[in-house]
Amino acid sequence: MKLIGKGSKPFSITTAKCPKCHEGEMFVDPNPYHLRNMDKMHASCSVCGQDYEPEPNFYYGAMYVSYAYTVALFVAVYVIFGVWIGWSMWPTVGTLAGTLVVLGPYLFRIARVTYLNFFVHYDADAAPKS
Ligand SMILES: [Zn+2]
Repeated sequence: MKLIGKGSKPFSITTAKCPKCHEGEMFVDPNPYHLRNMDKMHASCSVCGQDYEPEPNFYYGAMYVSYAYTVALFVAVYVIFGVWIGWSMWPTVGTLAGTLVVLGPYLFRIARVTYLNFFVHYDADAAPKS
């Protein structure tokens, strides 16, 4: 399995591309910070036709992924600001909260893309050759 670039899971996750063909967009608006459209997804991939909601309420499971990313983020912020820089509790907690607010829309999206990536795998032949 590739770890970087097209054909790898991190590529699909960080770019919010279709997990099957790595070309189609999963979200209607590519910018997660346009909050009104943050959660609007295409029903299926415009390039390979992959269904983005394989079953009803599929993305409930993405909440667990979101939780895992949030915990990882908290640990990272705590280690950097609380341990490494040596801030006291409240500035560190404030930084945690601020980081979560700022990264919230992005985390929401990568959680969904990650979750779909658990079930759908890259297929180099999915997209028509150009
Ligand atoms: Zn696709």
